[in-house]
Amino acid sequence: MNAITFNNSYAALPDQFYTKQQADPAPDPKLIIANSGLATELGIDPEFLNSEAGLAMFSGHNPPQGADPLAMVYAGHQFGGWSARLGDGRALLLGEVSGYDIQLKGSGRTPYSRGGDGKSAVGPVIREYIVSEAMHVLGIPTTRALAAVTTGENVIRETRLPGAILTRVASSHIRVGTFQYFYANNDKKALQTLTDYGIQRHYPDALKAENPVQAFYTAIIKRHAKLTALWMKFGFIHGVMNTDNCQIAGETIDYGPCAFMDDFNPLKVFSSIDQKGRYAWGRQPQMAHWNLMRLGEALSPIWGADEDASVKEIQSVLDSFGTSFNNHFQTAFSQKLGLPAPNAAILETTFKTMTEEETDFTLFFSHLRRLDQDGGRAKFSALFKQTSVAEAWLELWQTARDDSGITAKDSQALIRTANPIYIPRNHRVEEAILAGQKGNYEPMHRLIEVLKNPFEQQSGAEEYEQAPQAEEVVQQTFCGT
Ligand code: AMP
Ligand code: MG
Repeated sequence: MNAITFNNSYAALPDQFYTKQQADPAPDPKLIIANSGLATELGIDPEFLNSEAGLAMFSGHNPPQGADPLAMVYAGHQFGGWSARLGDGRALLLGEVSGYDIQLKGSGRTPYSRGGDGKSAVGPVIREYIVSEAMHVLGIPTTRALAAVTTGENVIRETRLPGAILTRVASSHIRVGTFQYFYANNDKKALQTLTDYGIQRHYPDALKAENPVQAFYTAIIKRHAKLTALWMKFGFIHGVMNTDNCQIAGETIDYGPCAFMDDFNPLKVFSSIDQKGRYAWGRQPQMAHWNLMRLGEALSPIWGADEDASVKEIQSVLDSFGTSFNNHFQTAFSQKLGLPAPNAAILETTFKTMTEEETDFTLFFSHLRRLDQDGGRAKFSALFKQTSVAEAWLELWQTARDDSGITAKDSQALIRTANPIYIPRNHRVEEAILAGQKGNYEPMHRLIEVLKNPFEQQSGAEEYEQAPQAEEVVQQTFCGT
């Protein structure tokens, strides 16, 4: 078994970027799950995952050889309110493997913990493992999960819950909030260093541009426009799109109160703390835009010599978000509807109908795969409150499809690639969490297996496809981390 080779490029940045910190070793760690597929992608021997050395690494025991653990500092706007210093309060960056950050989440207090204990309960660890891996398979850029362990100690939340640590893998953990931290401190030099680092690591092509900062910003905006459209394509609600959870490599990060919606409602929120619906499904593009505006602001001191010109240029790059997002969104939904090109009229009617009829978002689209099967139309109609509305919609849609010139076969091919049968349904995630809290990881493992092939019908997995029964519906999710 080969040793893991860590690189520590972030640790080589100036001192004010982080605090070096060791993890609290877990008293009695046990592996819940490890991701051998991801290990292989990272060049880590999968055997390592189940070894004693693996468990030691995932549970915060003596840092692995070559690692130089640290807690990163950042600031951020949380629900629009400014926090001048956040930082990794319950996470530690061990270092980079094959260019990816390896981070322990839940390994104890750091100088940025404020009132928190720096620990994670097993529930949020299970949620992040399941959902982030499912997102990856759906083709949504995301941080990933390499391993989850229980620590053998309890953490106090509303009650005492088993503690756990997630090993998170990310292209990096640099956030909009990292830039904001140095911007707010008027530390132009650090801002430049961070930008140079971000460009080198994530957007090396920007170096060829006349203004690399502008090219960097443009590229980040592009990635987030696509990311937000992909979230919406699959009915995903991030739930806590604060600037400290907006990562500059363009990956989904921080699976707190996230959820995939059941019944379609553009204003749907799950997070218990999002009382005004700031991060509702349909508000996500506005909020991504808002976060990126904060990034533009933070980059302004190093943008160029002429301040007025800089402001104009930043604004004009930011303006590209709308068009870019719209293109991705329209394309995604035309694929979901099996249409060769966007059709704004049919999409608008579709959303309106789904909202009024409270149809399940995922089933609405996945049932389009089966209209031609025995009873397929009836099953589709059963998603609606009124059969007549379903029939009227189907007629409208079929006309749009025929008018578009696409063959039924090509249309089906689009529908099949754009519409998953299985998503991490909230009630299934909840079930996995509740069992996991009692030490039974079977539901978690089973769910993870099903979610590895979201686009393929799997025999014996019908229950994972179904919408929740009334008593199973998850109304609220909690940060609870
Ligand atoms: P989040 O809302 O999960 O993105 O976290 C926001 C901030 O709170 C980050 O700075 C976290 O490090 C910090 N934080 C969250 N949970 C804890 C905890 N249990 N202990 C210490 N800090 C925490
Ligand atoms: Mg966060």
